[in-house]
Amino acid sequence: MPRPRAFDQFREVQEELARSGSAIFRDKAGVESLVIDDPYSIRYIHSYAEDSPFFLALAEHRLVGSRCTGPRCRFVFATPRSHCMVCGRPTEWTDLPNRGRIHSWTTCHFGSEAFLKETPYNLALVEFEGANSLLLARLKDAAEPDLYVGMPVEARFAEPPRYRITDVWFVPAQP
Ligand SMILES: [Zn+2]
Repeated sequence: MPRPRAFDQFREVQEELARSGSAIFRDKAGVESLVIDDPYSIRYIHSYAEDSPFFLALAEHRLVGSRCTGPRCRFVFATPRSHCMVCGRPTEWTDLPNRGRIHSWTTCHFGSEAFLKETPYNLALVEFEGANSLLLARLKDAAEPDLYVGMPVEARFAEPPRYRITDVWFVPAQP
């Protein structure tokens, strides 16, 4: 049996694990760790509870946020909250536009298994007309040097939906 192949990048280790089931990770000090592929599966029944309308709206290619019912507050959350983080009152659902602007962004060079194929990838905080808070989402079809604060972006939606937060992402807005 040949010795597992050694790598100094964990991403290469993960790719090798998918290929052969074993690999050696060599850290910066030269210490070698044997790593094996050890699939682990658990069926987790997850309820979105009061967040459900957000995910159901994504499936209809719509973005919704929540608006504080406080008559003097009316804070609008682009990341929905059942209760207002400003004044504590319950919120109600409100439509958000499918277009927004980049408030800030970052490039992720590490990611969980779900994002391995698209790493490095860009994450943006998107601001919307009429909303007081931001939505964190992936940014696609844009190279990092082309990104800027205030850049118009528009939402894209997974088809068919998987009812996950990754059902929505943003791309540069068409003029
Ligand atoms: Zn409020």
